[in-house]
Amino acid sequence: MSTTIGPDLSTFLEATPDLPAAQQPVWPDPAALESAVAELSTYPPLVFAGECDVLRDRMASAGAGEAFVLQGGDCAETFAGATADNIKNRIKTILQMAAVLTYGASVPVVKVGRMAGQFAKPRSSNSETREDVTLPAYRGDMVNDFEFTPEARHPNPQRLVRAYHASSATLNLVRAFTTGGFADLRHVHDWNRGFVANAANQRYEKLARDIDKAMKFMAACGADFEAMRTTEFFAAHEALILDYERPLTRVDSRTGNLYDTSGHFIWIGERTRDLGGAHLDFVSRIHNPIGVKVSAKAQVDDLLRMIDLVDPERTPGRLTFITRMGAGQVREALAPIVEKVTASGAAVTWICDPMHGNTFESASGYKTRDFEDVVEEVRGFFEVHQGLGTVPGGIHVELTGNDVTECIGGSEKILDADLNKRYETVCDPRLNHQQSLELAFLVAEMLSR
Ligand code: PEP
Ligand code: MN
Repeated sequence: MSTTIGPDLSTFLEATPDLPAAQQPVWPDPAALESAVAELSTYPPLVFAGECDVLRDRMASAGAGEAFVLQGGDCAETFAGATADNIKNRIKTILQMAAVLTYGASVPVVKVGRMAGQFAKPRSSNSETREDVTLPAYRGDMVNDFEFTPEARHPNPQRLVRAYHASSATLNLVRAFTTGGFADLRHVHDWNRGFVANAANQRYEKLARDIDKAMKFMAACGADFEAMRTTEFFAAHEALILDYERPLTRVDSRTGNLYDTSGHFIWIGERTRDLGGAHLDFVSRIHNPIGVKVSAKAQVDDLLRMIDLVDPERTPGRLTFITRMGAGQVREALAPIVEKVTASGAAVTWICDPMHGNTFESASGYKTRDFEDVVEEVRGFFEVHQGLGTVPGGIHVELTGNDVTECIGGSEKILDADLNKRYETVCDPRLNHQQSLELAFLVAEMLSR
């Protein structure tokens, strides 16, 4: 893959029409932006075209019901949060959830982190007011800082460069953990260590003992464990800030095709998926597997036009619809969409994001989600697909490996009054380690029905 802007890429960048781009920061200093973009465009790719192609095949398998996708991670990564412990706990949590799903439902799990690039956030308002002080909204560490001061909220394009380095360091650790022996299935117990003892962990320990037994049985039979030693793990984020995504786009020297090398899988959010907008145009030009968030408000005709634009060849695995309808609406709203998209002959993979349609403000003023609503939306998602004979291909969740108190409910019964104990997210509330494991056990049951 070429690492500098070659002639093909320059042509692409010049040819990209100046379409309206929603949710972009207003950078105060154009010269500083130009220099940050120029710097990014000289950096090595974070991911490789061949890896993106592998993931596209995996997404296709999930779309065909031969695998199940598990996408998970922070709503918003932060530079300060990119520590070894945080990253390790998140990877362990995803590996544990994958073990539960693989063992519980006998299905290969495609592991994808909302990680190594999830540093930008769309916002419903451009500003935030606290006690009569109004400042620009926090747009993610890639743009400005969460701290509520005028200096911190000032968009700084050097943060695009920092986001690249933080992503690079995160991905380095992800690659080390998932290929360096840590993800070996024979360490299935170790992933549980260091987490506080609770009901979900106990249930996991029992499952890990069963996996151990199966592994010993296979070893006694002379099975080859090479495939158990490492695991594929992919990186995904919302492609929001085009001043980050475009300069990280490269030409694949094998094929001449363009790839956004900032992550294997990138998605377009509910607020930036307008037809005729710059985001959909951008992803239509690159060859990564692409996701698009789809809320209950989506118009089927728009989705069909989007499919024509992003996936004109109907390549399995190319396009994933990440539906986020809310527990109360999923059954009614999802069914006609899936039915009509399927009838059109499109080849999309369907994934359920049970988080973003279920956010509310608690009585004590925290943005939260109820674990019951999360489970109920996944249940509705499965029911709709099972009713139509289509495939529930995976889940997309906001989670952390830490014992935060951001979502209420779960067997720990986190209450509104507990939210202030460890509410650490800078954006949306995440499932904590125990809630994540519990969700995996419940989804394994839904999958094996
Ligand atoms: C998100 O995934 O954090 C997000 C903002 O989601 P959506 O685009 O579905 O609202
Ligand atoms: Mn979110």
